[in-house]
This record gives sequence, structure tokens and C-alpha cells, in this order.
Amino acid sequence: MSVQNVLNLIKEKNIEWVDFRFVGLLGKEQHISLPATEVDEDTFVNGVAFDGSSIPGFRGIEQSDMVMMPVTETAYIDPFTAHPTLIIMCDIYTPDGQRYDRDPRGIARKAEEYLQSTGIGTKAFFAPESEFFIFDDVRYESGMNKSFFEVDSEEAAWNTGRKEEGGNLGYKIPVKGGYVPVAPIDTQQDIRSEMCRLMMEAGLRIERHHHEVATAGQGEINFRFDTLTKTADNLLKYKYIIANTARQYGKVATFMPKPLFGDNGSGMHVHMSIWDQDTPLFYEAGQYANLSEIALHYIGGILYHAPALIALTNPSTNSFKRLVPGYEAPVNLVFSAGNRSAAVRVPIAAVTPKGCRIEFRTPDSTANPYLAFAAMLLAGLDGIQKKIDPRALGYGPLDKNIYELSDAEKAEIRSVPGSLDEALDALEADHEFLLAGNVFTKDFIDNYVELKRGEAKAVNIRIHPHEYSLYFDC
Ligand code: GLN
Ligand code: MG
Ligand code: MG
Ligand code: MG
Repeated sequence: MSVQNVLNLIKEKNIEWVDFRFVGLLGKEQHISLPATEVDEDTFVNGVAFDGSSIPGFRGIEQSDMVMMPVTETAYIDPFTAHPTLIIMCDIYTPDGQRYDRDPRGIARKAEEYLQSTGIGTKAFFAPESEFFIFDDVRYESGMNKSFFEVDSEEAAWNTGRKEEGGNLGYKIPVKGGYVPVAPIDTQQDIRSEMCRLMMEAGLRIERHHHEVATAGQGEINFRFDTLTKTADNLLKYKYIIANTARQYGKVATFMPKPLFGDNGSGMHVHMSIWDQDTPLFYEAGQYANLSEIALHYIGGILYHAPALIALTNPSTNSFKRLVPGYEAPVNLVFSAGNRSAAVRVPIAAVTPKGCRIEFRTPDSTANPYLAFAAMLLAGLDGIQKKIDPRALGYGPLDKNIYELSDAEKAEIRSVPGSLDEALDALEADHEFLLAGNVFTKDFIDNYVELKRGEAKAVNIRIHPHEYSLYFDC
């Protein structure tokens, strides 16, 4: 879409406001709206100014002026505003016209340029499966926001979806119905369909939606793969539409990795493949899971760097409450064909050479998608360049149910970090692969680690409700 196309669209659709957006380090969208009458060719040349010092992890107050440079191809009409509004995602520049080296979207674009510079391939495809819960918005009912659920699995079921008092004493449909149950267990068919309708109108190609395994209210919608930066743009659109459709229904959607103790969390599995023009590079018929050597080395890079990578793909204290055994979230750093308890799964059902890809199951939606996808690509490329063979390093393939291995077998398998602090330690120790092609800078890593250490500390110094049951009566 050219600038002229955008200006035409503004006229044709009687757009009143143009909403310029960017994301900070935490991956949250920020926006500033301009009257459409103030937007012309110059806006796309000069950009839109904002105060970078108010965004966590961006610049200090002394050099706060930043510029959003709109990316025309990202434009779509906001489905939620009363006044017709066109949303446009932006790259961030410094006032002297340089790319801002902490701009996550800029980092994603640099990662794609770096891939091309390596000569390995021309494009990397990404497809995230970002799971979420839709809860009744308790703010609407009691004026409070219940941010903590200290419940076991059965109670969790009763506390969400349909609020029942005293448990299921009879004549009621249980709210936990396993994977992809139909209605009446699934009460959210229509809300997910409406989300999909709005996503399609906003330009996403929807492949499917379904209820997920956790207690009533967990869902997933899949949109079609695309190249790295575009997929990150698409994911923001996806989250925006889910959160605001839920709100329109008087509900609240959350992508938090583990909102309920004792039940499945929400992951964001990421499917990836590398192509050279129109040739997929991950497929080789007859090999294990039809994986080419390039694909194997890519997996090697992901698993070898996983502890550090996870600081970017699972960057919250809550992320590590999801990464525990027993809930389909991966704990062990191995790869496998089909096995969903492995950190890297290679889908083998109905896979064609073009569909051949790997699935990294560790990430969750607290990840900033631009940073996480860029980091995954860099880890994989490092594996290809250094020919990291995951089989030689003890990363599988492992086709048994990992949760059921003996202790001796388990002892040979490496695990994901146990906490955000451990992941940050790993990132401090291992980040050379992220500096390749200057995609990430050392300054970026140091600043990011400091920001995230702050989050970990803020959680650690607070008294945990469970400490009362353990220690109050001491
Ligand atoms: N919710 C699981 C996770 O945390 C995945 C379940 C699934 O997609 N089958 O990763
Ligand atoms: Mg899925
Ligand atoms: Mg799923
Ligand atoms: Mg999956």
C-alpha cells in the first residue's frame, strides 16, 4: 500500500482519525491519534513526534524526542472506535533520522536483513499460536479486579467461565471439558467467531479457532503464517482484536501465561521455516521427520541457546509458572517428531515440503513478538552457521512422553530455566548470537536485562499469598 493508497482510503472511508502506533520493549502497543485532516504526504516523510522518555526502557528524559515513521502497508481500520479511525504501525527513529536501536520493530526488520546477508535464505516464515483465556470481567460485577486466583483445578473451574457456588452438586454441566469440547461446555464459540470476523475484516487470514484444554474459557485462534516482521504486526492486531471484542461482550481476555494454578496455561507456540526464494529449506524426504540438515542445525541453535532465548520468549515472572510438568507446556530442551512434551516439535501430520516447519513450544504471549521472533531466527541461524547438531549434544530426538521418563533418563535431559532471573542470567552469559549483524546491540541487552530484573525483583519482594498457608502458623 502506497502513501497515496492510504490517503485515498482515508477519503473513501470517511476516516476522521489516523492512529499512529508503535511498541516499546514490553511489546505493548502505544498510540497517538491525529485528525485525518492533518495527515498528508508530509506526515509520511516527517513522521509523528512522541516523548520516548515515558516508555519503559526507552530514552532518558534528556534525549526524549523520538519520531514514529508510519509503515503504510500496516494500515487497517479500527473495528472498535465510534469515530472512523485508521491504525498505522510505525518504526521508531531518532530526531536526526536514524533508526532507533531499541525499536523492537526495527530489530525485527534488521533480523530479516541479516538473514538475507548470510546467504542462507531469503525469508523466514513465522506462525504463532497465541492462546488466551476469556473470563467474566469481575470489574463489571463487583467493582474489583480479582488479579489473583489461589485455587486448585476444580475450584478454578468453578471460579471461571460460569461462577458456581459450592461446586457441582448436581444437574450442572462441568466446565472443564478437555480439548476442543463442543457447546455447552464451549460457551465461547460465538465470541471467537466474532473475533475472527473482525480479524478477517482487518486483513488477517484466519485458519481456525477452537476451545483449548484448560477450564472453560481458554481459546485459540490461528492466523496464516507470514514473514517475520509482518507476523509480529499481525500478532499485535490479533491481541488488540481479542482484548477489545472480549470487552464489548463484558468479558476480559488475558494472554497471561498462567492465570490459574493447577490448570493448563496459555502458550504461544511458534512455527518457523526458512526459504530461499520459493524453495523451502527445511524439508528432506526420507530423513527423520523429513528434516533437512539445515532444519536440524536450526533446531540445534534454538535448543543450544534456549536458556538465553527464553529471556526474550518467556520474559515474565509468570512465564515460569507455566513451564512446569504436566500441562502440555514444555519443560525439557529436546526435539521430537509429533511429541508435544518436547520444546521443539516437528509437525508430521499432513505436512508437505512447503509446510515442513519446526514448532518451538516454549514461548508465551508476554513475549514482545518483534524481539522474540528476531531472537529465535538468530539462534537458528547461529545453529546453521556453526552446524550445531542437536543429536550430538543430547537434545533428542526423543519420541517418548517426556513426563513419564525414569529419573535416570530424565537426568540426561536439560531443562528450561526455572525463573525469569535464571533466564536473565543465561542471557547475560550467552548473547553473542544476538549481536550478529548488529541486530541486537550490547546496550540493548544490558538495558533489557536491567528492565526485566526490575520486574523480577518487584515480584520477589512482595509477600505471596501462599506464604500465609505455609508460614503464618509457625
Ligand atoms: N496450553 C498448552 C501450553 O501451555 C498447549 C496446549 C495445546 O496447544 N495443545 O503450551
Ligand atoms: Mg494450536
Ligand atoms: Mg493450543
Ligand atoms: Mg502448537
